[in-house]
Amino acid sequence: IIQLLDVHKSFGEAEVLKGISFDVRRGEVVCIIGPSGSGKSTLIRCINALVPVTSGTIRVDGIEVADPKLDKLALRRKVGMVFQQYNLFPHKTALQNVMMAPIHVLGQDKREVEARSRALLAKVRLAGKEAAYPGEMSGGQQQRVAIARSLAMRPDVMLFDEVTAALDPETVKEVLVTIRELAEEGMTCLLVTHEMNFAREVADHVYFTDRGVIVEHGPPETLFSSAVDPRTRRFLSQVL
Ligand code: ATP
Ligand code: MG
Repeated sequence: IIQLLDVHKSFGEAEVLKGISFDVRRGEVVCIIGPSGSGKSTLIRCINALVPVTSGTIRVDGIEVADPKLDKLALRRKVGMVFQQYNLFPHKTALQNVMMAPIHVLGQDKREVEARSRALLAKVRLAGKEAAYPGEMSGGQQQRVAIARSLAMRPDVMLFDEVTAALDPETVKEVLVTIRELAEEGMTCLLVTHEMNFAREVADHVYFTDRGVIVEHGPPETLFSSAVDPRTRRFLSQVL
């Protein structure tokens, strides 16, 4: 459902992505790991057209992301994205945050959206928190509201960029459980993560990136136990 072919991205002189190619099939969970600055966030942002690629092609369920005539709304409906910073609207409740895009972007019926949004909050285990404001919730709770908010657009694919990196250790787990449940229900997930245990247990495939290239990839049981490239081995020895 996601296809990248020889994607390059430069910021000025700096080439941050140097020919990235991979596929994510529908229902797969794919993790991207790698050192800071290797271009992981840039890659994720290219897929969602937040950042234009310099060359190469990206296709999401038949949509050509690099096409100058790209229908961004059509893409955004297919692709949900959750960042490290959850960016909830601080003056809106959890429920209002989840309801906002379907009503204001898609113009859907308010009552129907509300019912669906309540169900989504329950799904991310936040039943009872509908009326809470972001400032009244833990980081992990806010991040789960952010996930529910993305799901409210009924995406086909979810992109996660280090969504647990800013959280307290206690709340990391509840967010990972939510993502794991989504994955088990068959949602296609592409995650940048530092949570190696999560990658090991949930991912179908793991890509190790360094300085803008995919150094090595494979199923987690292979990559984590018998990486071949010294860069992969060094990185894994630091994080495992
Ligand atoms: P981290 O693990 O720290 O999040 P990352 O792998 O996500 O790192 P990126 O955020 O993709 O790395 O950044 C890769 C490189 O691109 C970095 O050197 C960064 O400074 C540079 N970069 C990212 N965004 C921009 C931008 N908008 N303008 C210029 N340079 C950028
Ligand atoms: Mg990043």
